[in-house]
Parts: sequence; structure tokens; C-alpha cells
Amino acid sequence: MEQQTLVIIKPDGLKKSLTGNILTRLSETKLRIVGAKVVHVSRKLAEVHYQHLKDKPFFEDVVKYLCGELHGEEYRRALALVYDGKDAIEKVRKLAGATNPEEAEATSIRGQYGRLTTSGLFENVVHCSSSEEDAEREIKLWFEPSEIIHDIYPTTTIEVKTEKLVWK
Ligand code: GDP
Repeated sequence: MEQQTLVIIKPDGLKKSLTGNILTRLSETKLRIVGAKVVHVSRKLAEVHYQHLKDKPFFEDVVKYLCGELHGEEYRRALALVYDGKDAIEKVRKLAGATNPEEAEATSIRGQYGRLTTSGLFENVVHCSSSEEDAEREIKLWFEPSEIIHDIYPTTTIEVKTEKLVWK
């Protein structure tokens, strides 16, 4: 089944210079990248992204983690990617490994590069969507239609009057 999935290389992945390694691992899936950008993750974006965890005791920590608040000012960023292709969700999740890096298969991305911090946070270097519904919600949250190489969901045109930042 043709699917899309959102992958986020989290701030610890960027800080540890793992971007290239992670993209190389992901290329094993033979999926296509149809969107990619570096994002300064706002608190609001992280909170909405993790809305399903809002009642968990670790919610505040995972929000701070995704915002880059735990990895220093320089690393307040994440790399967001949309992968597209056959069984994209399952392929990427298998490669990423279990949520808890200590339980993840040793050769998975999280098994190779993730760690459980002394405070109990799962620093698992990547996020990947877990279902088609989550993928659609997350991709629409992180990307505008114009940032994806082709229309993966129906779009509509609206008129907006706005200011735009341009090169001087
Ligand atoms: P994912 O889909 O595998 O990323 O898992 P979730 O969406 O359920 O969790 C999001 C993030 O919250 C994970 O990537 C972890 O960083 C963190 N997390 C999830 N479950 C736990 C937990 O039981 N304990 C702790 N400390 N962190 C967790």
C-alpha cells in the first residue's frame, strides 16, 4: 500500500552529527523523500505533536526534548522529513526500532544511536509515524502542501493577504 510517513530527526540526532547515518539507514527502505526541512520547533508545535501523551508524567520532558531545550541553544532544531512509498509506515518503524532505546533491536536506529538518560528520558533520536491517521495528522501539522513535492492529501486554494520576508 502506498503510504506516507513523517520522520523527525530529533535534536539529539543533530547534536550527535547522526543525520547522515540516519538518512543512510533510512535509504535501506528504498522509500522516496518527498519533503524535508530544518525546523525550529516551538513549544506549541511539540505540544500538539505529542497531544496523545499529555496525561503522561513524562509529557513536559518529551516536549522540552523535541523543542531542543535539553541539548543547548545551538541544537534547538529538528529535521523533518516525509517519506513516501509502499508500506512506508511499517518499513520506517521497523528500521527505527522500539520506543525505548534499551529495548530496541541493537541494529535498529534507536538501538544503535538512542540512549536512556539517567533521568529516565528515552532519547531515541528519531520520531516516525505509527499509523496512517497519525501520519496524516503529523504531516499536516509539520508541513504546508507547497513543501511536499506532490499533493499527498487533497488541497484547496485560499486567498491570504500577508507580509513576506524576502532577501534584502
Ligand atoms: P514513538 O511513536 O515510538 O515515538 O512513541 P510515542 O509517540 O508513544 O512517544 C513519544 C516519545 O515520548 C518517545 O519517542 C519517547 O521519547 C517518549 N516516551 C514514550 N513513552 C515513554 C515512557 O514510557 N517513558 C519515557 N520516559 N518516555 C517515553
